[in-house]
Amino acid sequence: MGKADYLALGDYNARCSMCGFKFKASQLTRNWQGMFRCRKCQETRHPQEYVRAVIENQTPPWTQPLDTPTYVDVPQIITTDASIDTSDTWLTTDEGVPLTS
Ligand SMILES: [Zn+2]
Repeated sequence: MGKADYLALGDYNARCSMCGFKFKASQLTRNWQGMFRCRKCQETRHPQEYVRAVIENQTPPWTQPLDTPTYVDVPQIITTDASIDTSDTWLTTDEGVPLTS
């Protein structure tokens, strides 16, 4: 016979989930994990479990698009005849201006 083995109308015996001792169910309380514990075994939830990270916004405050690149048209000479002089002296632009530097 233990201390909890007595008649209490509307109550029943239950064991503490931590220490395993027998108590009346009305003496046990439910903790944050959903387990029923006696008064001595009841523990509070650790405050660090409530810590939440601060959401960090890594985007810069403003941005702008880059300038569009300017492409230069370069004439391409493809020849297999070695007798043709492909030096720069005779190359011209589309308007006929020589490409001499
Ligand atoms: Zn206990």
